[in-house]
Formats: sequence, C-alpha cells, structure tokens
Amino acid sequence: MNVDEKIIEAFRNALREAGKVELAESVRVDEIMKSHTSFRVGGPADLFAEPKDTEEITALISAAKALLIPFFLMGNGSNLVISDEGIEGLVIHLGEKFSHIESKPDPNDPEKELVRVTAGTLLTRLSSFATRSGLTGLEFASGIPGSVGGAVFMNAGAYDHDMSEVVEEVTCITKDGQVKTFGKEELDFSYRNSIFMKEGGIVTEALLSLSRGDTEEISAKVREYTEKRTKSQPLNFPSAGSMFKRPVGHYTGALIEQCGLKGTCVGGAQVSEKHAGFVINKGEATASDIDGLVKKIQSEVKAKFDVDLEREVRFIGRGFSSPNT
Ligand SMILES: Cc1cc2nc3c(=O)[nH]c(=O)nc-3n(C[C@H](O)[C@H](O)[C@H](O)COP(=O)(O)OP(=O)(O)OC[C@H]3O[C@@H](n4cnc5c(N)ncnc54)[C@H](O)[C@@H]3O)c2cc1C
Repeated sequence: MNVDEKIIEAFRNALREAGKVELAESVRVDEIMKSHTSFRVGGPADLFAEPKDTEEITALISAAKALLIPFFLMGNGSNLVISDEGIEGLVIHLGEKFSHIESKPDPNDPEKELVRVTAGTLLTRLSSFATRSGLTGLEFASGIPGSVGGAVFMNAGAYDHDMSEVVEEVTCITKDGQVKTFGKEELDFSYRNSIFMKEGGIVTEALLSLSRGDTEEISAKVREYTEKRTKSQPLNFPSAGSMFKRPVGHYTGALIEQCGLKGTCVGGAQVSEKHAGFVINKGEATASDIDGLVKKIQSEVKAKFDVDLEREVRFIGRGFSSPNT
C-alpha cells in the first residue's frame, strides 16, 4: 500500500463530514487500473472513487485538496496509458453511475432536438440513442469507445467530423471549484483540442444539438463507419486508438510504415500490422513496453522525415506525469 492508512481514514472522514457517507465507504484502495483502461495496462491507483453526481465530485476534490492528495479524473480509459507503478493519489472515475441522457425538442427550431447528457455516458450508448431516436449528427462517434466527458475534453472525432459540430454548451467544475456553463463559442474547439485541455476543469454535462433525420439513413451511415473501422483498425487487440496526433501535411500511419516499423515490438507492445498508427497490446504488454515503442517510433520518424509525432494518448502515473487535473 502506497498511502498511509491514517490518510485514507482522514480522507473517508472528510467525506463523511461532508455528508457523503456512502461515497466514503465505496472509495477503493490500491485499485488495479489495468481493468479500467482499453490498453489493459496500469498498476494500482492509491485511491479510486466513482461519484454519481457533481456534488460527489466536488466533495472528493475538497477532501483530496485538504489532505494534499493529488487527483486525476478519468472517463472510460480509452485514451490512456497508465504507469505500471500506478497512480499517486486519487483517481476519480466518471462511468456508469454518472451516465444519463435526456432530450427535448428545440423550442427555437422544429428540425432540432436538444440532448442533455452527463459526462460518464459512453459515446457508443449516446450514438445508439441518437440512431434510435432518428437524430443525426453523431454517426461518426458510434465506434469511439470514450465517455462524453473525455470526448468533449479532446474534441474526439472521426471521418471528418468531431464533437465541436454538435456541442451547444458544456457544464464543468473549473480548476477553482466553481460550477460553470460555457457556450460553444467559449469552448475553443480545434483539432483534438478544447479549452479544458488548456485550462483544466472537469466536464460534468454537455448539451448537444442534433437534427431530425431518417432512422434508416442514420443506421446505414453507422454501419458504413463500423465496416470501415473493422477493415482498417486492429479492433481485436487492446489499444488506445491512434497513438499520435495527425501531423500537418502528413499521414502518421504512412510515415511509420515507411520507416519499416510495422510489426515492430518492444516487449508485448507492437506497431499494428493492420494500421501502423496504432500501437497494440499483444497480450502481456506493460506501460513501459508501450512507452519504449512510442519513443522508438518518434525517434525514427524524426530521423527519417524530420517530423515530430506528438502523442495523442495520455501517459499518466508514476514516472510519466503528474496526475493533477
Ligand atoms: C479502438 C479505439 C478507437 C478509437 N477511435 C477514436 C477515434 O476515431 N477518434 C477519437 O477522437 N478517438 C478515438 N479513440 C480514443 C478515445 O476513445 C477518445 O480519445 C475518447 O474521447 C477518450 O475518452 P475517455 O472517456 O476514454 O477518456 P480517458 O481515456 O478516460 O481520458 C483521456 C483524457 O480525458 C480527460 N477526461 C476524461 N473525462 C473527462 C471529463 N469528464 N472532464 C475533463 N477531462 C476528462 C482525462 O483526464 C484524460 O486526460 C479510440 C480509442 C480506441 C481504443
């Protein structure tokens, strides 16, 4: 155990004093993160909590801050490599307990529906909801295995569409603990970027504007994207999707392939044979294998093409970076 038992008890007590008794009892110690990430790597988080509402997130953060415990907020763990040595402090996981969708007609536009969704909701669930409801605009998200919060945070996208096209406003907890709602023009969306990546803050809810469409056409588009993904991506191996951001004027996969790196392994991590932009876990990869392979790719691409590949996947935990959100 990495945290003193007295600190753990003090943390639980702070939550109890804030009236969050159930939450205090549910906090887990030394939670193995491997089972919470799509890459299937990661050692223990000292403390791990799954809040069900904004009040619970705020209580967790206040208790952590008072005891100088660092914290990290995660969604579905599909864009993360967590260190083999684990994460120092508290991991706050927004998942199923923080998942809710409701929708109503847009009073200002009969062709539109306003969908309010909490941050832990999976994009796949949201996209299915939109398809069933005959709402178009989220077909691109049907195969992205992240949460709504994670997708807003990094403006997730695919097939020339991204979250910025459908988000109307976002409610968040700012770095100084205020609950604030931002309109779309304030969110500073650009390629795989948003205000939250620059300034921090925890996305708790998004309001999306979707257009009424034809359920058959929407389903057909979703099927088309699913087929494309299945053909081009190594979906039968654990990964975090594309490892790198697309460098301006280049295709990442092509650069890596032209360095002869397809199939290259470091330990159990491999440059996918199917799509060189993906690093996969062949079964027993560690976070340090993945990090080693990524560094090798970056240095060979730099040497051959003088292009800096920037990691899209976030490497978090002991030895990688500070978990502070
Ligand atoms: C097979 C596969 C295919 C993929 N395809 C795509 C794709 O086509 N397009 C694409 O964009 N991505 C893709 N991804 C990557 C990933 O699914 C997205 O980046 C997704 O948006 C990450 O969301 P998450 O909830 O899993 O975030 P996590 O991995 O849990 O966290 C990633 C980052 O987001 C932050 N974060 C998470 N939730 C919140 C929140 N509520 N508030 C503030 N910050 C938050 C975390 O602190 C962390 O820094 C793919 C991944 C896989 C495994």
